[in-house]
Amino acid sequence: MAKPHACTDPRHHVHDAHGFVAAVERACGERGLRLTAPRARVLGLIAEAGQPVKAYDLLDRFRALDDAGSVAPPTVYRALDFLLANGFIHKLESINAFVACHHPNAAQHSVPFLICDRCHSATELEDASIVAQLDASARALGFAPQAQTLEVHGLCARCAQAA
Ligand SMILES: [Zn+2]
Ligand SMILES: [Zn+2]
Repeated sequence: MAKPHACTDPRHHVHDAHGFVAAVERACGERGLRLTAPRARVLGLIAEAGQPVKAYDLLDRFRALDDAGSVAPPTVYRALDFLLANGFIHKLESINAFVACHHPNAAQHSVPFLICDRCHSATELEDASIVAQLDASARALGFAPQAQTLEVHGLCARCAQAA
């Protein structure tokens, strides 16, 4: 099983969905949170997707896994809220989709994202100084920041090369 690690490689993605869910389960245990079956299932679907996935796609995939096919949308939305609030996934506002955060042991964090408009990959740009700089600039104006959304669109290295 993949061991959780403090990864600083910006090209790193969540590759191993099972290992990822297990790491989040451990993180939940340490923080006194409960990764219920629907939460674990939604997380697994996001991790398996390997790229940003929209809520209605998750709902479809969730239903496909459910023999009775009777899962209510609020179940999925509540699971997403839990995963977001605890920093296990990120929401990409500009494309209204979710990706797994590959730092399940880190608390909720803001991070700039690089989103490829061709292959639809999303990469966390692991540069804390950008977030800190924005935060400091906002505070210098007397603004009290609570959340940041920084999403850069373009072509990833692989797609740019093929272009
Ligand atoms: Zn993250
Ligand atoms: Zn690409």
